[in-house]
Amino acid sequence: MWHVYCPDCGHGVLVGPGGVCELVNHGNGLIVVVLRCPAGHPISVRTGRAADARG
Ligand SMILES: [Zn+2]
Repeated sequence: MWHVYCPDCGHGVLVGPGGVCELVNHGNGLIVVVLRCPAGHPISVRTGRAADARG
């Protein structure tokens, strides 16, 4: 489960493994996960090494 902020809902939502729509590996350690909030909004979450690094 992820607790992520949904800008469309305007608050944090809980997304389970079934809410993962897409996982895009951009290389350079940057992975973008597209989650589906319970209300159906797509939420992009940056993860991976590059998202943790400054810059
Ligand atoms: Zn939402």
